[in-house]
Amino acid sequence: MIIIMKPDATKEQIGLVAEKLKKHGFGVHLSPGAERTVIGAIGDKSAIQLESIQMMPGVSEIVPIRKPYKLVSREFQKADTIVELAGGVRIGAGQKIAVMAGPCSVEGEREFMEAAEAVKQAGANVLRGGAFKPRTSPYAFQGLGEQGLKFMAKARERTGLPFVTEVMDTRDVELVAKYADMLQIGARNMANFNLLKEVGKTKKPILLKRGPGSTIQEWLMSAEYVLSEGNKQVVLCERGIRTFETATRNTLDLNAVPVVKKLTHLPIIVDPSHGTGEWDLVPAMARAGLAAGADGLMIEVHPRPDEAMSDGAQSLKPDTFQKLMAELKAVAAAVGRRL
Ligand code: PEP
Ligand code: MN
Repeated sequence: MIIIMKPDATKEQIGLVAEKLKKHGFGVHLSPGAERTVIGAIGDKSAIQLESIQMMPGVSEIVPIRKPYKLVSREFQKADTIVELAGGVRIGAGQKIAVMAGPCSVEGEREFMEAAEAVKQAGANVLRGGAFKPRTSPYAFQGLGEQGLKFMAKARERTGLPFVTEVMDTRDVELVAKYADMLQIGARNMANFNLLKEVGKTKKPILLKRGPGSTIQEWLMSAEYVLSEGNKQVVLCERGIRTFETATRNTLDLNAVPVVKKLTHLPIIVDPSHGTGEWDLVPAMARAGLAAGADGLMIEVHPRPDEAMSDGAQSLKPDTFQKLMAELKAVAAAVGRRL
């Protein structure tokens, strides 16, 4: 629930309300506003008599949060969250559009460096690459592990761009967090609650992909896991869901962008690469994602897609990516954003 304090409530009155809530086992989150302070209280409402809070000096009203997710809900926090990455990259409403680009997998030092320099030159502001790969087949390339993280760290040094990479296992969180600027939770792990809790304990920004069979509500519940552990730096990523349609790898649910904007204060980006599975469909859906109001994009780019060890069919060549970036500039401007 949210306790809205009166505009003239004193610090002491606010403190007394917070203290009382804590005594009854509530997690307390203060949001001092320009006009009035709002106190978010997460816990079991039956543990306290609401009248006893309502009657305290300085309290204006108590508003229940009707959604099952609390900390991520717009009801809890009206202002948009801005997620900050190393290198001055800020992701969220009103910020420059974040473009995370690079190959699906890190395949080698030279290969990754080549891709990193190409996407930097085209104007991407975050590098992407997988060192721990969630492959459908146990016989497919599984990623380079720590060696891959080291190659990405080198590319960060060279380009000055921060990088995002997937962590698949609770046992690897510390290792991946040692190198990466942002931890990606892949679609297949969206409902791995132990992993969500573990990354929630880090101070690294999290990119939370939507599970291919998950509703928006389930996705937001997963984000709630991360926030409930104290990490509020979460960016959501729509990457397509599984439907009856077989013409594309997934169905990119662009409805999710405005729906998510309504329900939560967290930023959202769109991944048209996994959303379509085909490189020649990527530009149209990237443009559409921005037009729908996304705060950023994740796009797979490979210097030689036909040689890629994963997701070559959906990877753009650097020149196609560069051309797309120019188009995205125009789309961003049309919806009042910058790229
Ligand atoms: C990826 O980003 O390469 C990836 C595996 O994505 P997803 O989890 O969305 O399938
Ligand atoms: Mn991929």
